Amino acid sequence: MNNKILKQKIEFLPGVGPKKSSLLNKEIGIYTINDMLHYFPFRYEDRSKIKKLSEVTEQDFDGVFLIQALKKTSSGLYNKKRLTIKVKDSSDYAELIWFKGIKWIENKILIGKKYLIFGKPKLFNKTISFTHPETNEYQKKTLGIRPVYSLTDTLKKRFLNNRFFNKIIDEILIKVKNNIKENLPKHIINHAQIISREEALINIHLPKNHKMIYQSIKRLKFEELFFLQLQVLLLKKNRLNSFPGFSFKKNILLSSFYKNHIPFELTKAQKKVIKECYKDMSSGKQMNRLIQGDVGSGKTIVAFMCMLIAIEGLGQVAFMAPTEVLAEQHFQSINKYATKLNLSVCLLTGSTKQKERKLLHEHLIVGKTNILVGTHALIEKSVVFKNLGLVIVDEQHKFGVAQRAKLWKKKKLVYPHVLVMTATPIPRTLALTLYGDLDVSTIDEMPLGRKPIITNHRFDNSRLKVFSFLNKTIESGQQIYIVYPLIEESKSKDYKDLMDGYNSIKKYFPSIPIGILHGRMKSEDKDFEMKRFVEGKSKILVSTTVIEVGVDVSNATVMIIESAERFGLSQLHQLRGRVGRGKVQSYCILMTKYKLSENAKTRIKALTNSSDGFEISNIDLKIRGPGNMMGTQQSGVLDLKFTDLAKDIAVISKTRLLAKKIIANDPNLIKPENKPLFLFLKNNKKNNVNWSRIS
Ligand code: ADP
Ligand code: MG
Repeated sequence: MNNKILKQKIEFLPGVGPKKSSLLNKEIGIYTINDMLHYFPFRYEDRSKIKKLSEVTEQDFDGVFLIQALKKTSSGLYNKKRLTIKVKDSSDYAELIWFKGIKWIENKILIGKKYLIFGKPKLFNKTISFTHPETNEYQKKTLGIRPVYSLTDTLKKRFLNNRFFNKIIDEILIKVKNNIKENLPKHIINHAQIISREEALINIHLPKNHKMIYQSIKRLKFEELFFLQLQVLLLKKNRLNSFPGFSFKKNILLSSFYKNHIPFELTKAQKKVIKECYKDMSSGKQMNRLIQGDVGSGKTIVAFMCMLIAIEGLGQVAFMAPTEVLAEQHFQSINKYATKLNLSVCLLTGSTKQKERKLLHEHLIVGKTNILVGTHALIEKSVVFKNLGLVIVDEQHKFGVAQRAKLWKKKKLVYPHVLVMTATPIPRTLALTLYGDLDVSTIDEMPLGRKPIITNHRFDNSRLKVFSFLNKTIESGQQIYIVYPLIEESKSKDYKDLMDGYNSIKKYFPSIPIGILHGRMKSEDKDFEMKRFVEGKSKILVSTTVIEVGVDVSNATVMIIESAERFGLSQLHQLRGRVGRGKVQSYCILMTKYKLSENAKTRIKALTNSSDGFEISNIDLKIRGPGNMMGTQQSGVLDLKFTDLAKDIAVISKTRLLAKKIIANDPNLIKPENKPLFLFLKNNKKNNVNWSRIS
């Protein structure tokens, strides 16, 4: 019964009609009463209290005043016309001024009568004035808290303004009363101490008072997050039920490596994460796990140990990295470990030669190759495994979701286990929400003996001092990165800056071997330069952000970032993570121009004050918002209207726990008390989050 009213077209509401409704469709996507009901105000104007003119200050905000019109004066000619109405209230005098719509106002306002005006008072030379105030005849009804809706200019021009919205909403609220179905069971409502859905939807548009606005938002936010979590968890449950996985139970290879070959003691966190992965990989259900750990927390060795579990179970491993430099480096370090165990590792990137490639394909398909490391070249059709058992994606935020999915689909009978790794650490609860149905493991501990990196901010004009510091660094045997921004939009200028920088560094350090690394170089040349730096032959590496992710040279102790103001916060943190990997004190120097935007100042300050990836990513989240955190266009996937992912961690956790409990007790939502949940999910299918796009 209720659905009928909610589904009614707004066209048929009094005062709307076909023209206005088609405009509303076009401009803000509103078709039905239900759409209108879910078009929420973005702020409120408090018109519940009448202010006094005598209390107006220079910094005053919008307010309601009860005035009496005293005298009208018109002045000016043609388009310079102006209407001034002198008014008073019980405390003082003021002027109302109009430049447009003068005739209409002149007729409307009668001398001697009282009006409620709403507007922002200006105080100048003791004269109070209002320009184009909203003017209403005095009646009780216009008082109260009024919602303000976000409307397009086109709508406003056609008089589909806030006033129009208020009027239509008023009518809708009368119509829908007693027709809005509750979508949460009573036990949840009681437990969460929230108001009913109907009360919330009415009060969000027509609040009785400020407390009710708060209560309505609280309720709608809870609902939004609760259903999100419920969907995520149901999806995960379905995946686990419908995707059987390899059951890799043996771990002799793993223990042998751990006992005989591991070059250092694993941190507790690393051990914990390996155990979590082993549990998944031996379960017979397909693993879909995210490992998050700050730069330098040691994700690669964890990945390698998981590979051993798969290999012992006769599965092959694909390990995908976002750049050639990184793939090459992973290949080197994985190969170093793997040869000790007589495992065969291959590298495949865009620049692998045709001949090599052919051989590689042959080895892969017969199962001679245990581990294939590479870039997104791994997802090409021609790459066929005999038995792909584990897919690992490093720095997962650098890949599109489609790319990851393609790799995952290179299965024979069973989907391979999937491990994705990221160095963008975010609070666990948030990760659980953002990454959909991935399980999350966190390496929240750094290997022993790491000294925090000292981060300083220097302006461009102190470059010479910085250079003399670099001299000392080189004299004591350490190496240096100097990174330049390279941004697509300003590519040619950025390249010039990079080359200019490179040349001036060469001039300043004439006898020191210096390398350069950027995307326009042939990959052989890149490899050559990288190798020279890794081996300590070159002392300074001038580079673009190609070294941003993953590169690991523990003798490099100084990171200079040029034009640091042009980098994002997470990117700066990642770059800084290239140093601080050995026992010697490391430094990061952020070079910027003198004049910085507020936003840039915040980023620089966050970095000089903190080396904690979690803290930094929280600040980043606040500056950029969650959509951007996840990379490309994923912001639209989580279309949250009430939730602020940076601030609402408590509600996120609470709703997740609750959703978990409900699914544990009633996995198919068939118990009578959970019927509202079942119905709501069923009827709102089109709004469901499309998680396959995320993970
Ligand atoms: P990330 O998590 O950024 O990918 P890496 O896996 O590259 O970090 O590890 C960073 C460095 O720390 C590497 O040189 C690695 O060998 C070293 N490392 C990893 N785990 C440990 C540990 N438990 N103790 C000492 N060094 C470690
Ligand atoms: Mg790494």
